[in-house]
Amino acid sequence: MKIFKFSMLMLLAISVVRCSDDAENDLQQDNAITQQSVPLEVLSKLESMGFDMNKTSVIPEDGGYVVDGDIFITEETLQEGISSKQAFFGIVNCNRAGNIRIQNALGNNAAGRGFQRGIDLWNNVNRTTLRLIPVTSNPDILVRLSNPGEIGGWGRGEFPSNGVEGGLILLNLNEPSIDGDPVTDREWGNILAHEIGHNIGFLHVEQEFFGTAVPGTPVGSDPNSIMTSGSNPSVVFNANDVSRFDKRAVRRMYSNRNNRLCQ
Ligand SMILES: [Zn+2]
Repeated sequence: MKIFKFSMLMLLAISVVRCSDDAENDLQQDNAITQQSVPLEVLSKLESMGFDMNKTSVIPEDGGYVVDGDIFITEETLQEGISSKQAFFGIVNCNRAGNIRIQNALGNNAAGRGFQRGIDLWNNVNRTTLRLIPVTSNPDILVRLSNPGEIGGWGRGEFPSNGVEGGLILLNLNEPSIDGDPVTDREWGNILAHEIGHNIGFLHVEQEFFGTAVPGTPVGSDPNSIMTSGSNPSVVFNANDVSRFDKRAVRRMYSNRNNRLCQ
């Protein structure tokens, strides 16, 4: 339970976050304090699982590592390479997922103009019952701009709880693009699709460790997933579509078939 709480807190704070140029330096500094005697490849593996290595202590023990105080990760787990896979943290009830009302309260700006692309990227997936319906009032998911200082990075979503989709998505117009230019309409659409992914349950593909892996998606790397974390933001910025495994995952989560994961 404690692990569960930890992961929820951590994941709620995750969105598309900019890379920090001094991450290397931070990592070095923290190594001296809380990550002694831990091989760099282990630290890098933990980072790929979604741990923030600037804040996470790692203590070697027999057969594995105690991470962030109370999570034991075995050497086997680290070596199995299970750290990248479509996975979800919560899942929306099947009936709800077929009619998710989503409101564009972004206004007349690039993010607002990207809204339709964001919902289309999911609605265009065939053989899933997931449907996002744009509305002008009483939404299930409200999409609005963040207030100054409300979030860092480009966007933030919320995970579902008790079968109900996350209710809010924030987009941050003040965040420059990865090349320093303003984020384009199309890029905002991709970012919104990523955040919608969180609101319908998806973790980052690097964070399967915390959630439920979706059967039939590859163990290993999906370099094209729209649910790639902000540590590699160009994947989301440059996406032409959600990946084939994102599609496979959402079909498995939300469908009329017997093996669907929603309830
Ligand atoms: Zn995210």
